[in-house]
Amino acid sequence: HASKIPNVGTTIFTVMSALATKHSAINLSQGFPDFDSDQELIDLVSKAMNSGYNHYAPMQGNLELREAIAEKTATLYNASYHPESEITVTAGATQAIATIITTFIGKEDEVIVFQPAYDSYQPMVELNGGKVVPIQMKASKNFKVDWQEVKESVNHKTKMIIINSPHNPTGSVFSGEDLVRLQEITRNTNIIVLSDEVYEHMVFDSEKHQSVCMYPDLKIRSFVVASFCKTFHNTGWRIGYCCAPNELMKAFLKVHQFSVFCVHHPTQKGIADYMKNPQHYLSLPEVYQRKRDLFLDLIKDSRFKFTPAKGTYFQLLDYSEISDAYDVDLAKRWTIEQKIASIPLSVFNSNGSDEKLLRFCFAKKEDTLKQAADILNSI
Ligand code: GLN
Repeated sequence: HASKIPNVGTTIFTVMSALATKHSAINLSQGFPDFDSDQELIDLVSKAMNSGYNHYAPMQGNLELREAIAEKTATLYNASYHPESEITVTAGATQAIATIITTFIGKEDEVIVFQPAYDSYQPMVELNGGKVVPIQMKASKNFKVDWQEVKESVNHKTKMIIINSPHNPTGSVFSGEDLVRLQEITRNTNIIVLSDEVYEHMVFDSEKHQSVCMYPDLKIRSFVVASFCKTFHNTGWRIGYCCAPNELMKAFLKVHQFSVFCVHHPTQKGIADYMKNPQHYLSLPEVYQRKRDLFLDLIKDSRFKFTPAKGTYFQLLDYSEISDAYDVDLAKRWTIEQKIASIPLSVFNSNGSDEKLLRFCFAKKEDTLKQAADILNSI
């Protein structure tokens, strides 16, 4: 039997990680750290399991965790979300994204998506009968959004705009000016903004993360989606959350209650306790900037060209001086022959166009980065 999205293959993250394992390659493809989550957090989750947090959490999530999220959002972005009615804890950001799209997108609704785009957006829009309107961001323009093009793409069918800053896979970040433009374009419309901010704590070079919730006329129409898995280095725990004004969240919960009801309770309690020390997330830019700088310093004499990532834990490398192969073929070939796995960028463009770019995850131990650099320097 065919699924409702017959043209979708297996996600590139699974494909490349499996290939890396099969060929014992260094895996800088799928985005996850090769170091463990903080022992203090692991202990707090175990403690929660040993003190009775083993049954259903409230459908919206453990209240202490929602309170911690509200406090964090107020402190960092000066934005207020009510923990009782405007915050929901989800099974990773991926479930939040899927549920938001399912809640609001139906037949013939148009969704503006900036490409290269994270690979779950388009299939979820299409599964729900909607249509993606892609807007291409180009490497030659440092992946800047052309807001005039966005303005011209908006029409009465536009139901949602999906944004993602810091941006996976390119590592670019939105400036305040970008969000001001988005705010102007969506003002006095019914457009919902889905803002995927899972890399909010990985913004480098003393820049500050720009969240949609800092802009009042954007906040009223937006879902902010965030991830503890990315922030606290435990991608297998599947805990994220979303925040939105009460009316939007009420609609979201109608779907959430029947898709997962609630998510893993002891993890939520453990994270709530861990968040009492804000240093646990405030220290992240420094941790990851050091890794980015080390990685780029190690490969500065290689034949790859690059612009340092402004955010996320991904670095793009341009291989146009080394090969003219299609990026998907090259990523696979280098995994098998050079023993280094990366993610080809073209899979994030619906037309498959290729700019000779590969994405490397630098959320790795120093030793792993050194081994990876040795290979990249020899190519
Ligand atoms: N977000 C991760 C990445 O971009 C992958 C998530 C996944 O494998 N589903 O690599």
